[in-house]
Parts: sequence; structure tokens; C-alpha cells
Amino acid sequence: MSTSNPEAPVATTPSNFLHDIIAEDVRNKTYGDAAIQTRFPPEPNGYLHIGHAKAIFLDFGLADEFGGKTNLRFDDTNPEKEETEYVEGIKNDVRWLGFDWDKLCYASDYFGQLYEWALKLVKAGKAYVDDLTADEIRQHRGTLTEPGRDSPYRNRGVEENLDLFVRMKSGEFPDGSRVLRAKIDMASPNLNMRDPVMYRILHATHHRTGDEWCIYPMYDYAHGQSDSIEKVTHSMCTLEFADHQPLYRWYIEQLGIFPSHQYEFDRLNLTYTMLSKRKLLQLVQEGRVNAWDDPRMPTLSGIRRRGFTPEAIRAFCGAIGATRTNGITDIEMLEHFQRDDLNHRARRAMAVLHPLKVVIDNYPEGQVEFVEVQNNPEDPAAGTRQVPFSREIYVEQDDFREVPPPKYYRLSPGKEVRLRNAYFVTARSVVKDSDGSVVEVHCTYDPASRGGNSPDGRKVKSTMHWVSAAHAINAEIRLYDKLFLKPDPYDFPEGGDLFDNLNPNSLEILAGARLEPSLADAKVEDRYQFERVGYFCLDPDSTPGHLVFNRTLPLKDSWAKIEKKAGA
Ligand code: ATP
Ligand code: MG
Repeated sequence: MSTSNPEAPVATTPSNFLHDIIAEDVRNKTYGDAAIQTRFPPEPNGYLHIGHAKAIFLDFGLADEFGGKTNLRFDDTNPEKEETEYVEGIKNDVRWLGFDWDKLCYASDYFGQLYEWALKLVKAGKAYVDDLTADEIRQHRGTLTEPGRDSPYRNRGVEENLDLFVRMKSGEFPDGSRVLRAKIDMASPNLNMRDPVMYRILHATHHRTGDEWCIYPMYDYAHGQSDSIEKVTHSMCTLEFADHQPLYRWYIEQLGIFPSHQYEFDRLNLTYTMLSKRKLLQLVQEGRVNAWDDPRMPTLSGIRRRGFTPEAIRAFCGAIGATRTNGITDIEMLEHFQRDDLNHRARRAMAVLHPLKVVIDNYPEGQVEFVEVQNNPEDPAAGTRQVPFSREIYVEQDDFREVPPPKYYRLSPGKEVRLRNAYFVTARSVVKDSDGSVVEVHCTYDPASRGGNSPDGRKVKSTMHWVSAAHAINAEIRLYDKLFLKPDPYDFPEGGDLFDNLNPNSLEILAGARLEPSLADAKVEDRYQFERVGYFCLDPDSTPGHLVFNRTLPLKDSWAKIEKKAGA
């Protein structure tokens, strides 16, 4: 679903410092009559996650709001980790979130230009070929408290550097034997400025340029100039790149090219959630989850499959805004926005997850009647549907107790409750199996209470959902819990591992749920509120005879709260 006015931006960001900076630049015409230009620059080495949604929301949302444009740029400078599958996945996810890019760009489109610029820096004496190994370069770099040491190759002449660099490019040298470095300042307090590597030799096939190149630019050499080539006015990224900004500026100044400016904002961190692409890949590779789009994953494809909506994610991103200090956001906040969105939009349905058979002894055998049910009490326009009722129904096992604890108002012997939209029923007796567990509850109903109210004004304390046994359809239900047990997944003892904190019970599969028959028409990604149970969405694993529903989120369960308070 999109916003009602197709011209309206899909995102408007409440005021935050980035918003204020751009508003000020628009007011002052800092970039003349040119439109605001932003970009979202993912590295195609994995699928996007909820943290990226925040960056996307800021990049696209702010540009939209100020009449600007956003490029989708793949930072594909590392041929070894990048795959076309991820490129397609990222495009899908950005569109799903509701955004569209102006230009689709790849850092690899600029390999030629970046090489020309590298030659220019070599000729100007601002870059040199270094024969030190990667280890030696690290050792020479110094620390935060000690200055670096010059490489013995730092003062090579321009002609020699030029000759070696051209030969690096033509494939004469093996991987790792030489690099091109910027000649800046080995004593700089900023380690990024201590003659950073610009190019390395890598005889690897690139997903777009094939075998055309055997030298590849470092991310830090490519990023700022890519912004500049695209005339990005506001280059927004997360705080860990703040220390790289002086380097990006240095390249831009040495080359005399368009001065893109970088602004850093806080990374999204969520409790119980791990947002490292490298580690997410590891979860997939080690089979700890089923795939990148496993509904337990914090990837956009995962939470989409789980049943989250782009509307809720955008609302969440708008609410968290952007700041200049890193913090941690409670996962409950994201869940709150999702419940709120689904509460307004999800069709209601009745589904019994743990069925217990109820027989209504005084209801005529063979009779079926249809009760009219509202599809969504929050949205009268969603209409109504007819749900079959008959003598044998299923209710939740939890909704019956032979010996009710205090304050238990649901079904128990002698107690009267309401079957939602149908009748009042009173439990009379139970049938047990050989080990003593209740397999069937026998009730009587009050025929005068049709629709769920009794004409004499009698009150009942509980309303329960139900499904007619003869009409019920079977479904598999997948219940998800948090993937990690701790608010901070990285909180593990020395010698431990992040994955030690994985929740062994993050997925529970229920094979025998009984659903009202209208759910047989559900389409993949259709979202429902199963009354009193939670929000669910149809999983793509479903086939016509075998429906699979994912639980997006449980409803807040008031009984669970009471039990918890009582210390049960
Ligand atoms: P990783 O280090 O796990 O691979 P990344 O940050 O390097 O993730 P990129 O593909 O480089 O992933 O990210 C693209 C953009 O998304 C960058 O501008 C980055 O700053 C931003 N981004 C990544 N993670 C987050 C996050 N958790 N919150 C907000 N923005 C993020
Ligand atoms: Mg990155």
C-alpha cells in the first residue's frame, strides 16, 4: 500500500540535525540552483538489514523532502566478496521499502576515472608504489600514541612510481607484492592519513568488470571520489566513517573535483539484534538459520517474510531520527510500530493453535449456521465475512482449565463464557485419555445468546475464539522468538562466542493448528491478526494443500502478565 497522494514523498523526516543542515543549505543556496543530491552506497556483500533501512530512510527521505535525488550506488570495489545475487536483493529491498533511485551506479563504473586520477596523483608526487608487505605496512603505521615510520620506498622518484604503477595495472606483478599509497603524513594523529593504500594487486574476477582489472581501488580511495563524480551534495553515512572524512577531503582537494561533503549519523543498534553483514553471512553459511530471508533474521528480506511492513519500518525510522552519538534502541520500539500498523490494517481471523475439541451437547447434530464477523473493527471499510459454526468446535487448550486458578475467567466446569460472535456456552464435563489429560470438553449453549449477547443482560467475563471442527483447515504455524538471548548479543564471557548467545528456541513449529476456512484463500504475504493470538502472515513455503503461517508478533498477552506478576 502506498500513501494516498502519489505525489507526496513516502517519507517525511521529523526535524533532526541532518534535516536542519540540508534545510539550511537549501535556504542559502549553498549549491546554487542544483538540486540536493544524496546516495545510498551499500557494498553488495550481503543482504540489507534493518540498520540499512535507517540509512535508506535518511538518504532517500531527506532528498525526497527537499526535491532532490538519490542514487543507488553499489560500492563494489572488492571483487572477492561481492555477488550479483546481493545486487538484485538490495534493489528489491530498497523498492520494497518504498523508495526508488534516480541513477543506478556502481563504483566499478568509475574504475577508469579513478585510475586516471591515481596517475595524476603519482605525477604530482602525491602517491607512490610501496613494495612492503601488508604486515610491514601495518607495523610501519604506528599507533594512536606513536607516529608511523616512513617506508623505505616512500621517496621513490615520480618516473619510477609511474612505471611501476602502470606495470601493476598491466598484470606484471603477483597479488600482494606491491601497493599504491597516497603520500600524506606518516605522523598524522589520524591513522587514516598515514599514507593510506589506494590500490592493491588482485588477480580476481569482478562481478561487472570481469578480468579487465587486476588492481582494485581501496574503498577509501573510491568512496569520496564516487560521491564527487555523482555531485553528491550531502553524503550521509554512519559515525565510524568520521575519521575517514579528512582523507576523502584530501583526495577531493588534491584532484580539484566537486566538493561532496560527508555527514555522519548514529548507527542503528537494536537490543537482541546483531547487525553485522559478515556475521549474518556466517549464520547462513553455518546453517544456524535457514537463509538470508529466514524470518528470524534482521535482514529486510527476513523481517518482510516474517510479516513486517514497509510502512511500519518507515514510521519507526522517522521516530528514531538521527543523532551524532551512538546509542541502543529497544527492539520493542520497532515491534510497537509494527503492531500499530497491523492493528489498523490486518484482517482478523480465528485460528486455534493448540486445539482442544469442544462438543456442544444441546446443539442440533448436523446443523451449520453462519455468523457474520467484522473483518477489521479498526476499519469498517474492510467489511464482514461469514464464519461457519456447528456442534463441534476447537478452542485453545489454554482456554480451558479443569481446576481454574484464581482470576481465571475462561472456560472451566460450570463457568459460562462467550464464543466470539456466536453463543454463550457453559462447560459441563470432560473426556480424558488414559494418561488423564483432557481431550474433549462437553458444553451446553444458550440458543438465545446468538451473536454473543444474552437477552436477559447476563454478563460473562471471557470471550474466546473458536473454529468449527468440520470446517477447519489445517495449517503449519511457525512461532518465532528472539534470535539472541541477550539484549546485547556481544555480551559473552572471555573465550566465548557471539553464537553462544543464540536462542535455541527461536523457532517453534506447530503442525496441527486449525483455522477458519476463509484462510484457505490467503496469498503469500497476506497479513492477519489471529484473534487473541497475534499477527501472522502467509509464508512462501505454503502450497495449496499445506498452508504455512509465520507469527510476525504475538499480541500483548494480559494473562501472561498476570501470571508473571504472580511469579508463576
Ligand atoms: P557491515 O560492516 O556489517 O558489512 P556496512 O555498514 O559496511 O555493514 P554497507 O553496505 O557499507 O554496510 O552500508 C551501506 C550504508 O548503510 C552505509 O552508508 C552505512 O553507513 C549504512 N549503515 C550500515 N549499517 C547501518 C546501521 N546499523 N545503521 C544505520 N546505517 C547503517
Ligand atoms: Mg561497509
